[in-house]
Amino acid sequence: MTKTYNICLLPGDGIGPEIIAEGVKVLDAVGAKYDTAFSYTEALLGGCAIDACGTALPDETLRVAEASDAVLLAAVGGPKWDTTDPAKPRPEQGLLGIRKALGLYTNLRPVQIFNALADASTLKPEIVDGVDMMIVRELTGGLYFGRRERFYDEDGCGTSGAAGQRAYDTLEYREYEVERIARQAFEAARKRRNKVTSVDKANVLETSRMWREIVHRIGAQEYPDVELEDLLVDNTAMQLISRPVDFDVVVTENMFGDILSDEAAQITGSLGMLASASLGDGTALYEPSHGSAPDIAGRGIANPLAQILSVEMMLRYSFDMNEAADDIRRAVTAVLDEGWRTGDIKQVDTLADKIVGTVAMGDLVVSHL
Ligand code: NAD
Repeated sequence: MTKTYNICLLPGDGIGPEIIAEGVKVLDAVGAKYDTAFSYTEALLGGCAIDACGTALPDETLRVAEASDAVLLAAVGGPKWDTTDPAKPRPEQGLLGIRKALGLYTNLRPVQIFNALADASTLKPEIVDGVDMMIVRELTGGLYFGRRERFYDEDGCGTSGAAGQRAYDTLEYREYEVERIARQAFEAARKRRNKVTSVDKANVLETSRMWREIVHRIGAQEYPDVELEDLLVDNTAMQLISRPVDFDVVVTENMFGDILSDEAAQITGSLGMLASASLGDGTALYEPSHGSAPDIAGRGIANPLAQILSVEMMLRYSFDMNEAADDIRRAVTAVLDEGWRTGDIKQVDTLADKIVGTVAMGDLVVSHL
């Protein structure tokens, strides 16, 4: 019997509607091959939602997302909605709001070099050859969500310091928060090369010492088959660019993950190729790592591959359709190996007739499925 999955589509702003259409095209193609039907409900998020409803995350969008088996998001934002007025709604409130409402505490960012694009990296080809890692970032705890305050300290609080401004942020984690992100990392490793690198600052921070202890307990008790190593965050920053090939799954807390995932993304050199998944215990959300590229919106030249690779992640992590996911990856690799490029990933020697637009790139991927 044909299996049916309900997907909430959030095209958002800028190039969003153009690239999400290609993601849907690819989903439909793999669905047909694997006797699976995908049904779609489109909803508003970001700038388009502000225009239509006065808020970046309308209640209806949340209702549709919560009732779906997965959410496919393109990107939100654009100059039209840029504002520093705190009273005005901003597109990114839609993003943060939906992640929070769906309880998405894990962010997965694969960083993979497609050999055909290896020279887009700023690192030497022999360093990046074969890079294939997954950054697992804790998304709803730590420093970004802790208690914070800024105030004027009249007397320097009894220290020898003079009066002046004072501010603090707090870095806090609870045991269950570390346990659940550790499990996500070990599970991801089992779908890959069975190795987890847990990144912390255990030589200084108490939260890190607790983090390390819990990750090791979960690893030993529940995932003895997965190799586990610890690495300090400063050392990780160096190792990521000196031996990126050695990493499989990298798991870390929110702020370290924020910084390291951008560093790792830069290894590939091509923003239009990077997908991401945000997972919790219910409906998960999949999106490209790039923004809404308002500078090229509506011109049919956006690269849809990050969106298509976010569909690959959806199949893998929400629907356990690993074979179909592998098909998508193989198809994207084949298209690139044949020399097809969108403008953003073209190389100096790319032939003019191999440069294609958004729709043609989607069609090429489908033709290889
Ligand atoms: P961006 O990622 O949108 O664009 C950066 C550069 O990369 C631009 O030159 C753009 O044309 C290019 N680019 C990005 N994706 C591309 C693609 N698929 N194909 C071809 N070229 C591509 O980042 P930005 O310019 O800093 O931000 C633009 C808007 O996007 C802002 O409003 C920002 O707030 C928003 N944004 C949204 C998200 C999200 O929705 N998750 C993430 C980042 C930025």
